[in-house]
This record gives sequence, structure tokens and C-alpha cells, in this order.
Amino acid sequence: MRKQIVAGNWKMNLDAAQSQELITALKSEKLSNAVQVAIATPFVHLASAVSQTKGSDIGVVAQNMHQAISGAFTGEISAPMLKSIGVNTTLLGHSERRAYFHETDTMLAEKVNTALENELEIIFCFGEELEQRKSGSHFDVVSSQLRNALFHLDTTQWKHIVLAYEPVWAIGTGETASPEQAQEMHAHIRDVLASQYDDSLAQSVSILYGGSVKPSNAKEIFAKPDVDGGLIGGASLNAADFAAIVNAF
Ligand code: PEP
Repeated sequence: MRKQIVAGNWKMNLDAAQSQELITALKSEKLSNAVQVAIATPFVHLASAVSQTKGSDIGVVAQNMHQAISGAFTGEISAPMLKSIGVNTTLLGHSERRAYFHETDTMLAEKVNTALENELEIIFCFGEELEQRKSGSHFDVVSSQLRNALFHLDTTQWKHIVLAYEPVWAIGTGETASPEQAQEMHAHIRDVLASQYDDSLAQSVSILYGGSVKPSNAKEIFAKPDVDGGLIGGASLNAADFAAIVNAF
């Protein structure tokens, strides 16, 4: 059975006190045991989030990491640094990193390799832009994002990868892909995985949907057979909303 996962992406929000308040509030919510829950906090809050969530079922995830393990990269954070504070998972390839920080598929393939070499789990984000959906190239775009950044991996390495399909036009816009659109793309992703690898791998990888998921729409999106959870931006900043999304399975 595939893992069901709901991960919150806090992006560049909340100061230290607000971060602690949100985690305290989240710990007081009743969260479904069937779902793996994680929060991707800003780097500066990761260490305190790790200690605050100790003994709870809430995982702590980085939003990004550099492809090098150390060196002259001012302002960057490496995989060994994350591991050293107890962070074992990182997001990679978020559309905001691709758009504003010029992260390419080639760079992301390097980040993926570095993360795996350092025993980090990866939530790998990808998805098409509005123009690509309008022109009907969205399936090809998604296939090539996966091929370029992930298809050099062997079957064993895929055990450490969770995919997060996030159509760019639905992120932070209030516009959600319909449950049918999400299901259609997730099924496509499994087809692509099955033809590159095999059906067993395709069926074993958890694929999250991200893009304006809220308590009001989570249930019908998560009900789709190929949707294994969500990557949640805005709604993860409110403990009750995030908990309602977790409990929407
Ligand atoms: C995200 O940033 O990954 C995201 C899905 O954001 P939102 O839920 O706010 O659309």
C-alpha cells in the first residue's frame, strides 16, 4: 500500500515565535494516524521545529538544499547540514525555486543525487504552467520534467522519492485543478513511470497533489485513486485548516 502524506510548505512565512505557536497548535489537533504529516519550515526554524515535534508524528522537512555538500556558496544550505540537525527530508524542484531562482532540470538532477547520497528523502515537485496547459502540452512537460531530473535513478533509489504534482497555475492562486484533472495527470505520471521502469514501481510511488488545496476541496481530491495526499501551501499556515486537510482522507 502506498503511503498517504500531507505536507505543509510554509514558504517564507512566520517568524520564530509564530513558527512555535503554529507547531504547538498543530500538536494539539487530532491528526489521522493513517496519514504521514510533515511541515516544511523556513531553514532558520528547522532546528527548533525538530525539537518541538520530537515524540509527535509530525515530520520536519526542508524547502530546498544546495547540490554541493560544502564550499563557497554564500547563503546556501547543504544536505549534511540538514542531516546534522535531524532533518531527513527535503522538498526539491518547487515551482517558485524554478521560476525565481532559475533551478533547471539539470540542477535538480544534481540536487536529487546529492540528497540521496546523504540519505535524505525527497519530495520532488514539478508541474506545468498555465500556457502549457492551455496549449495541451502539459503531459509532455511533466514527462520531460520527470525524465530529466529523475530517470537516471535506479529502482532502489525510488524508494526515497515522493512526487508532488503541482500545476503552476493552481499554486497560491485559489484556482485548483479539478479532482478529475489531478487524477488524469497522476495516472499519466504512473504510466510514464511504468514505461520507464515497471508497473510495480509505478504503483509504489506516492504522488501528492499541490495547488490551492483547502479543507473544502481536499476530500474530493484525495478520494481519487492515484492521489496519495497533498502538498499544502497557504492552508498549512493555519493549524485547524491543515488538520482538516490531513483528516480529509
Ligand atoms: C505550494 O506552495 O506547494 C502550494 C501548493 O501552495 P498553495 O497551497 O498555497 O497553492
